[in-house]
Amino acid sequence: MKYITLILLTFSFGYGFEYYLKPQKIEEGIYCFFGKTENISKQNAGNMVNTCFVQTKEGFVVIDSGPTYAYASQAYTQMQKIAQLPVKYVIITHDHDDHWQGNSFYKSKGALLIGPRTYEQNVVAGMKTRMLRVLGKELYGKTKIVKLDTIVDSNLSITVGSQIFQIRQLTPIAHTKGDLIIYLPAKKILFAGDLVFNDRLTSLRDGSILGSLKALKKIDAYHAKVIIGGHGYKTDANATETLKSYLIKMKKEILDAQDHDIGMDEITRKVILPEFRKMKLYNVLHKRNVLDAYKELEMMEDEE
Ligand SMILES: [Zn+2]
Repeated sequence: MKYITLILLTFSFGYGFEYYLKPQKIEEGIYCFFGKTENISKQNAGNMVNTCFVQTKEGFVVIDSGPTYAYASQAYTQMQKIAQLPVKYVIITHDHDDHWQGNSFYKSKGALLIGPRTYEQNVVAGMKTRMLRVLGKELYGKTKIVKLDTIVDSNLSITVGSQIFQIRQLTPIAHTKGDLIIYLPAKKILFAGDLVFNDRLTSLRDGSILGSLKALKKIDAYHAKVIIGGHGYKTDANATETLKSYLIKMKKEILDAQDHDIGMDEITRKVILPEFRKMKLYNVLHKRNVLDAYKELEMMEDEE
């Protein structure tokens, strides 16, 4: 009963959902909040995404602002417990809405927002986002859509408190048509956004299997000692491995099937990739990924 009263109080004062965010220290001055490896739901209020922050002498740089205004405001509270510093920049890795809906909170704190061209193209004020549809108005709370201050088409480097942040678009299309990675050369840490998934399957719905493989190769070429993906918990130098092997096997099996004239209607029964069956969201995303990859690879064959 006490618990229920507490929940009601939390909502009635307009603080929104309580996310219980706890920053995980990656190394000195680098922290992330790791979301659950599941789909967006009312139960998790969008806390199924990873967001990070880097502490510099001048202030924080946030990488992805998360699913709601309330999430960002609670993340900020946690940051201020580590150091009472302003948030100077928020860098958005791509335009999928689990990654940027905390923007309006950070904007209200004076941060500058940096992100890809696709955000400007696809994110429109007042649009009914997937997050709003799933969470409903109450959990979505004060979340508002705001414009970016700086758009990155291919690359931009910023220095904050003597820390260099290299922001790069590695390929024209991979997870989306505008994925940015953020690399900290001094620390050899790479924030990969949704170019890297662990502990759950990716979705190819807005991307490309070939582009994703190209981007993963480029990420590996950095030889970063820490790679942090947009979803999942593995953050070591080999964090690209799971997704790479999923995509390489899928590509090979689809191309083999196409050589044997197996059509779209049969392909999802052929390309099962049983070793990935136990991964989270396999049942939700795998068939769709196979179909998307099939169409793309078929087109590539036609062009040759
Ligand atoms: Zn995502």
